[in-house]
Amino acid sequence: MIGVLLIATGKYDVFVQPLIQSLKRHFLPGYQVKTILWTDKETQADLCLHHKHEPWPAPTLNRYKTILSQRELLEQFDYLFYMDVDMLAVDTIGDEILGDLVAVQHPGFIGKVGTPERRSRSAAYIPRREKSVYYAGGFQGGRSRRYLDMCHTLHNQIESDRQKGITAIWHDESHLNHYLHYNKPGKVLSPSYCYPESWEMPYVKRLVALDKDHAEMRCG
Ligand code: UDP
Repeated sequence: MIGVLLIATGKYDVFVQPLIQSLKRHFLPGYQVKTILWTDKETQADLCLHHKHEPWPAPTLNRYKTILSQRELLEQFDYLFYMDVDMLAVDTIGDEILGDLVAVQHPGFIGKVGTPERRSRSAAYIPRREKSVYYAGGFQGGRSRRYLDMCHTLHNQIESDRQKGITAIWHDESHLNHYLHYNKPGKVLSPSYCYPESWEMPYVKRLVALDKDHAEMRCG
């Protein structure tokens, strides 16, 4: 059984139904897939969990804490995949995504080091001298226990930063990049799985990150 983890608070509820419908059509056809949604709105998924909205960046920065709040339940799945809710599956996403720990190359930084956290005070710090790949935070997953173990470490790192009064440059994504730099993912997917809607790239569009007005979506 495969669990898809979704968070939609504040204005992000508008993305839920189109995404879930697109997953029914394109995501791991032939597998038993269940959607698990944390939301403050009345919207439907296989499992809906009430989750209070907090101003940005809390909903994304605290995603690992949110996921771990259901650890016992989530351990019963074979694989777990988190995806940002402002996405749409547009082509088949098959068993090529199954792996122990799965990450996606960030579409903006193929073959480049990207923008990891460079302040040594943050737990997300990667020294400049270390050559790193840059991963996108929008789609990630793996075998359930392996993925949840990663969530646990990331949550602790984010909490340690919070206690120091520092927020990593790209929030949860910086911590993910730090983790994956020191714990290489067994499966690295192409930007097909985090494909910005209006870009033209030499990859098949499979999971599209929808264009949005960031300021408008995040206010309130
Ligand atoms: N999110 C949410 N409510 C918010 C802000 C973010 O539920 O008010 C969740 C949602 O799943 C979203 C994810 O956090 O897809 C990532 O946030 P955001 O879209 O701001 O990140 P971006 O990918 O645009 O940097």
